[in-house]
This record gives sequence, structure tokens and C-alpha cells, in this order.
Amino acid sequence: MLPIPLQKTFTYTVTEAEATFLKKGMRVAVPFGKSKIYTALVFAIHQTPPDLYEAKDIHQILDEHPIVNEQQLKHWEWIAGYYMCSLGDVFRAALPSAFLLESETVIYKNEVFIADVELSDEAFLIVEALQYHSQLTIHQVSDILDKKKVLPIIDELLQKNAVYIKEEIYETYKPKLVKYIRLSAKYSSEESLQVLLDELTRSKKQREAILHYFQLAGNKKPIKVKDLEDRAAVSSAVIKALVDKEIFEFYYVQTDRVSFGGTTNNIKALNEHQEQAYNEIKTSFEKYEVTLLHGVTGSGKTEIYVKLIKEVLATGKQVLFLLPEIALTTQIITRLQNYFGNQISVFHSKYSMNERVEVWNNVIENKPKAQIILGARSSLFLPFSNLGMIVVDEEHESSYKQYDPAPRYNARDAAVVLAYQHKAKLLLGSATPSIESYYNAMQQKYGFVALQRRFGNIQLPKIELIDIKEKYRKKEMKGHFSDRLLQMITEALNEKEQVILFQNRRGYSPVVECTTCGTSPQCPNCDVSLTYHKFRKELKCHYCHYQRAMPHSCGACGSSTLDTKGFGTEQIELELKELFPEHSIGRMDLDTTRGKYGYQKIIGAFEAQEIDILVGTQMLSKGLDFENVSLVGILNADSMLNFPDFRAHERAYQLMVQVSGRAGRSKKQGNVVIQTYNPYHQILQQVSANQYTEMYKEQLQDRWQFHYPPYYRIIRITLKHKDYTRVDTGIHWLAKALQNSFGEHVMGPTEPSVSRIRNQYIKNLTLKIPPKQSLGKTKEQIQKIKNAFESIKDFRAIRFIVDVDAY
Ligand code: ADP
Ligand code: ZN
Ligand code: ZN
Repeated sequence: MLPIPLQKTFTYTVTEAEATFLKKGMRVAVPFGKSKIYTALVFAIHQTPPDLYEAKDIHQILDEHPIVNEQQLKHWEWIAGYYMCSLGDVFRAALPSAFLLESETVIYKNEVFIADVELSDEAFLIVEALQYHSQLTIHQVSDILDKKKVLPIIDELLQKNAVYIKEEIYETYKPKLVKYIRLSAKYSSEESLQVLLDELTRSKKQREAILHYFQLAGNKKPIKVKDLEDRAAVSSAVIKALVDKEIFEFYYVQTDRVSFGGTTNNIKALNEHQEQAYNEIKTSFEKYEVTLLHGVTGSGKTEIYVKLIKEVLATGKQVLFLLPEIALTTQIITRLQNYFGNQISVFHSKYSMNERVEVWNNVIENKPKAQIILGARSSLFLPFSNLGMIVVDEEHESSYKQYDPAPRYNARDAAVVLAYQHKAKLLLGSATPSIESYYNAMQQKYGFVALQRRFGNIQLPKIELIDIKEKYRKKEMKGHFSDRLLQMITEALNEKEQVILFQNRRGYSPVVECTTCGTSPQCPNCDVSLTYHKFRKELKCHYCHYQRAMPHSCGACGSSTLDTKGFGTEQIELELKELFPEHSIGRMDLDTTRGKYGYQKIIGAFEAQEIDILVGTQMLSKGLDFENVSLVGILNADSMLNFPDFRAHERAYQLMVQVSGRAGRSKKQGNVVIQTYNPYHQILQQVSANQYTEMYKEQLQDRWQFHYPPYYRIIRITLKHKDYTRVDTGIHWLAKALQNSFGEHVMGPTEPSVSRIRNQYIKNLTLKIPPKQSLGKTKEQIQKIKNAFESIKDFRAIRFIVDVDAY
């Protein structure tokens, strides 16, 4: 299996000796094409030569043991089949990239590259190619440019800081070694030791070191050199002298970079409602593969997970705990580490390649520290051998779905299959379940358990809707704040309580507009207005990271009447600083949380109550638990509701309920203020009355009427290319071909709301698959049409993307 998007596997020859050594799931370096070398995975060992080509010899075997097991290969095959991508795509996505090295120079995109630096055409092509491939080899570069001598172009890219280069050889992964110390074997008897100590009477320091060594050795744990030095208060020279005398010797043990230092605590006793939910889950596990736990925010779902996890661990099985966005959930990591300490490994996209390799190896060896894996969607690909339970927390979250690149999978759904393979139980948890999961539960496909009360019997927050149209009319607005919201903030601050404010856009304002001619600055690469970031006086594109200085005058008419429209988190933060100069204001959005510990810093500061008011985007909605927050404000609910997507209302409901759920979690009932132009919107009514089931029923009716999931399935096909007419011709050809097979169930062609991104024009076709139509046959037909499409010369360069369950 090669890590490339080709449907088939390839056959290579090995010697007899290699054949006896080689096992399925080991990596081998193989030549491919004229001069490439890939890391491939052994998928089958057989004696049938290929018909169509002469099998080449492998270069070398890279592993001593398989690093991928049969269960994984089965799961990968399911993903490739279901989501219509190649096994190679899954292979590439599944393995930490350190496992996929090639013996060639590799270039990487420099993430902080400023997009408006002038590049030659060829260099630009490569930067563009790097948007889709995280890295390119020199050979690939020369393929893309269709020329041999590409080094000058690489040179240019390097000089302009657009890429960086790393010379990589096999296995750059270096385990971190820790230096330990032990007594030489010849001093193992007591007599010899006594002699030794007598000999050392004159060097007091060395004697000290030895005596402290024995104290430490009492713990029966390996002794780190560092610990001995600290304990005996001696320098490393003293220890070194003892080693030179062959009294001590050093030895090394591989340790993991990522380890937990604290002690573990007992799990909390559940209250009666949690206990009941817990028992219902256990009963449900006997009957169903999958169980949905619908527990309101703050009901204490985590503590229930903890108790279940503990039991699974006791049976000697592993647990996978999936979280929507790992960086946002540092709190939950800490909570679980408190209970399970070193039995937890975290698989983190912000961890380095090496750290990820470590977790992989720990899981494959089923090490004690890999009994619970906490991770985002890609931790689904780890080499589990005996999973007992998978928990998918906040199962409604859209970040479980990977949109780009392939495999375009939904981790929650792929987890169902993984659990099934391992005969493990799957628990989905949410305060606002996705319509699909709730539907499956109501259809009794999944078990269902509800937990309606907050822990400590605290009431769910009181939600107030504020009509800002009225407020503007009566001149009761200050900036973007209604007098009511300001009053509530002031009261909360007076009580020394904290406030969370939610605004779904970052930056200062999403649109800059000339009041004379109405023009607004657009991104040169995408069909979208640039967002104004006041702090840096810059205009930025949130799609391609293009940025430029804020102009002083209109690019179209020259007048200096530029105005901003709409508002983002940055603007709210600035208004608050003026309104509440005595208080500290924090902001949490993509711009303030870069770097490995970006989130932790802000969340930590808010927990420590160094921040009084925290403004943020939807990041704030993800399972955070702050004790002292009594008020949540949603500044503008309408932008969420007026979104052209069949899930917009469901998502708006989830987002608002989740954000509201951050208020009043531990002491008393919290307050929520939602500002809107349309307080009678049914979703807002449902949010304020906490009517999940009403929302569900209404949405379900719409889904049925307009042919959407969970009744109809959706496959979306997207074409992308630089040349508008080519995409347009392609999509019309495709629409016809699909209509021939599927008739009225083909929707489109349509353009997405941003119809050009990074200079690629985008067009969509959506296929709705009625309940009785076979999904397998439909996909086969799509594949046939895709093959026909790609055999047309004019269409070959068009990117053809199939997204199954594209929502
Ligand atoms: P959810 O995940 O359902 O929103 P949490 O698990 O975060 O809720 O629980 C909300 C709060 O209640 C947390 O601060 C948690 O520590 C506390 N809590 C929940 N269950 C218990 C329990 N059984 N004993 C003590 N505290 C609990
Ligand atoms: Zn103008
Ligand atoms: Zn752009």
C-alpha cells in the first residue's frame, strides 16, 4: 500500500529471506515511477506476479515488527470504501508523518509566509501546490513543473521564505533518553560495600553520594542521575569521579516526552441522577452497540464517563476518548489526568511528530500509559488491539468531520464501525445531540439515556432575549451593547463574578466599505471581502491568509470615506475596554490562541480570575467549566440564524445552548442575555425555553420535507480549478452524467458562498439519496462517472472531490 491517492495496491518482489521476515503491517521503502522512493506498507504477501507490469524489488525493510495491525487495515478499508477515497489516502492520514519519510529532500510550506511577496510564476505554482500537499519532494516539484532543473526555483522559494527544507533520512524519530545510575555489580555484597565506604572516608562528597544513593534505592525505582545530584547536593563532577572509579555506572532508559507528573485522586461519588444515568447506560450497553447520553450542560457527564472508564480499564481493555478539538479541551484533559494519571496518553495535533510517534508505539505495545487515549478525530487511527469502550464527547461537534483533504470522514461515525470491530461499546455524549444521533436513538438503533438536571440541582441559566432593533430605535444602545446587557455586566462585576461574551466573528469588522461608491476591498485570491484587524491596521482574508495594510482611501473612487460594517471580537474587546476601564478584558479567538499553549494561557488566566470579561468566538462553546461565570452575553444571534445551510438552525441552537451552558455552573443559577433583531425566531424561543425536543421535531419535519439527512443521504461533488470556464464546462458535463443516472435527485450546479478560494474556482453538485436507494450502488455509479470524467483530456487537471455525508 503506497501513501498516494491511487485505488490499487502494488506488488514488489522480495528475497526468500526477506519473505520469511516480512509481515503484514510492516513498512518497506519501495521505488515508484522513474526515481521516487516511498514508504509503503505491506498489505499482503503472495506469490502471484502482476499481469500488467514487472514487479520491482523493494529497497529495504524499515520495521522489525508490524506497526499497523489487522484491525486497523480492516477499518481503513471501511473508511476508504465508505468515504470514496483510496486506501493510500487513509494510510497517509493515519500514520504520523515521521513514519512516512522518503529518502529525498522535502520542502514544506512556511506557514507564516506573507502571501503578497512577488513570486515567479513557477514558484507561485509550487506554493499553490503546497496548499494541498503539506510537503513536496524535489521530484514532485519537477513533476508539477514538468521540467528537470528545478533547483533555482526551490532556491527562490527559500530566499523569499515561502518554504523551508529538511534533509530527512529514515527514522529521524529519536526517543528521548534519560540517564540513570546504579552501583556496579562488584559492590553488590555488603562486605565489599563496607570496604568501599571505609576507603572513601577521605572524600566526604563521594561518601555522601553513595549514602544518598542507598536512601533513594529504598524506593526500588530506577534512580535518575539528576535526582541523586539534587538529593546528595553534589555536583556532577563528584558522580563522574565515582563512575570513573567503577563504583557507579550510568545506564539509559527511553522515556516519553509526554508524561504526567501529578498524583491520582479517587473518583467522585455520583449523585442519584448521575447514578441512575450510569445504571441506564450499563443496561443499554447490554443491548446496544451505541448509546447516546443526552445530558444538559453541567449535569456532570464527565464524572459518569470517568466511572465507566474505570470499569473498562479494570477488565484490561483500552479506552478511546474522543474530543472535538483537543486544544480547546485542556480542562477535560486535566480532569481525567487527575483520576487516571499516567494511564492516559494524549494524541494532539499540536504535538510534534516525535511525540505522536511515541503515543503510536505505546498503543501498539499496549503499554500501561496507553490504556486511555485522549484525542481529536485522528486518534481513531491508532493501533488499538483491544478496545473496550469509545467515548465521543460533544458528539454534535462539526469538527469531528474532516473536510479536506481525503479521507473526508466523520470520526463519530467511523468510531461506530471501529467499536463494532473491537466488540467495544460506544458512548456518545452531548447536551445538544446532533439531529442524526438523536434520530438514531429515537429509532432505537442506538440506546438512549437522558440526564436532565444540573449537578447540585442548580437551575439551567435564565435566558433573556433583547430586541436590539427596538433598542437602536430608542437610542438605548452603547456601541454594540444594549443598556440591559451593560446593566447585567455591571451587576455581575460588582458581585465579583465573571462574564463571557460571545461573538461569532473574529477581527474588528468583517467588511470595510466606501460610503461614497459602496466598494469594499476584496481578497485578490478569493471571492470574499477582507476583514479589518484594527490592532495591526491590516486587512486579512480568513480563507487564504492574504493580508495587506488598511488603505487610507477607496481603491475605486479615491475618496477617504472608508467605513467599517459589522463587528468582530476585536471591536467588542475595544468597546469593553472603554466601557469598563477598571476591569481586565480577555479575548479568545483564532488570533489570540496561536502556538502550542495558546489556549491554555487564556483559559488558565480566566480560571485564575485574572480576566473579568472574556470575549470570544465559538471556541467558548466547547465544554469549558468555569466556576465563577454568572453571565453569558450573545451579542448578535442573527448572523448564526441567517446562514444558507440546512443545518444552520440546528447549529445555531447547539451553539447558543452550549455557550449559555457556561453560565452558573457551580453556585447559583446563571443569566444569559441574547441580543437579536428577531426575538420571535423559533430557534431563539426554543433556546430560551430549553426545548431541545421541540427543536428536534421541527427540524426533523423540515429535513423530511426538503429531503435532507437523516432521511436522505447526501454526497457532494466539488470541482476546483484556476480556470473558470474549465470548471464551468466540467460541472455541466458532470451534472448531465449524474442526471442520467439519478434524475431529479441531483441538485445544482451551485456555487458555494465563497466561490473562489486561493484562486481556485469552486462548483458543487449535490446528490440526494432517498431512503430506499442503495448507497453502495450509488457510489459505484459515481465512481464510474468520475472515471469517465477523468478520462476526458480537458478535465484531467480539474480537482474532483467527492464528499460522502457532506455535512
Ligand atoms: P457536563 O460535562 O455534563 O457539562 P461536568 O462533568 O463538567 O458537566 O460537571 C459540571 C460540574 O459539576 C463540574 O465542575 C464537576 O466537577 C461537578 N460535578 C459533577 N459531578 C460531580 C460529582 N458527582 N461530585 C462532585 N462534583 C461533581
Ligand atoms: Zn469609493
Ligand atoms: Zn483570500
